[in-house]
Amino acid sequence: MKNYGKVLLRPVKSSFSKVVLAGASILLGPGNLWAWGMVGHETVALIAEDHLTKAARLGVQEILGTRQSLADVSTWADSIVDRRPETRPWHYLNLDAREDQNQFDLTDSCRNHDCVVDQIDRDQEVLRESFASKREKQEALKFLVHFVGDLHQPLHCVDDHDRGGNEKWFRYHGPHGTSNHFTWVNFHSFWDNLLEPHAKENPLGLASRLEKEISPEDERDWAKGKASDWAYESFLIARNDIYKDLPEGKLLERDWWGKDLPEDYYSAKMRLIVDHQLEKAGIRLAYLLNGIFEKH
Ligand SMILES: [Zn+2]
Repeated sequence: MKNYGKVLLRPVKSSFSKVVLAGASILLGPGNLWAWGMVGHETVALIAEDHLTKAARLGVQEILGTRQSLADVSTWADSIVDRRPETRPWHYLNLDAREDQNQFDLTDSCRNHDCVVDQIDRDQEVLRESFASKREKQEALKFLVHFVGDLHQPLHCVDDHDRGGNEKWFRYHGPHGTSNHFTWVNFHSFWDNLLEPHAKENPLGLASRLEKEISPEDERDWAKGKASDWAYESFLIARNDIYKDLPEGKLLERDWWGKDLPEDYYSAKMRLIVDHQLEKAGIRLAYLLNGIFEKH
């Protein structure tokens, strides 16, 4: 089990002293990189496992051994960030949320291959490389499982000059909150954990619910392309659906006093985006692994 970071309980004005604690454990301090949290990453891995070819299943087992599954290793990449700080930028890609162009140029946002797109490509290369050691392949596989999940968290592919939402603060009232009951949440953390407060689901339950929603047509539509295409898709979702109604740039707590998240953050709309992205990530992770191991 990993550490989800500091519980966020920001100081509030005395008239707002009744801070709701329910759900507070899911609200993280700034600077975290934990897209989706554990539930999301494991769910993606479980969906992928159910869509592996026999060759890919054997290939994965050969690398991880029989005692570890893709789900077991899906949050390893987050657990090593402090020990290996050079891996920190590998979890995201900063594309400008206010950019209006149809294509983006990775060279600016992915210097020295330090971004999630190039790392997904690199991990695939290592897994295909017959001369790579088992240890190198284990690491590449653990990174790959995690980064495909991160890539599908739309906020990991966008920047609004707010450190990917880490510097945009809102009052969070929770689904059943009132104006006197709230806690502060930064936007990135809210998104990373969007499914956790609703979910009584464990990853197994969530994966099986989501898999039932995936049609053969969905699978055909999603299981193609490459990491940069999927990053662009995440970016469009972030720009058009998630950031659209928010003011640009940083929103510090004191400047934004009394302001709340838009109404549809309490409706099903954002949760539907989450579900859909988890489904796509699972199918695409399987697609990559099936491709890597097809000749084995
Ligand atoms: Zn991550």
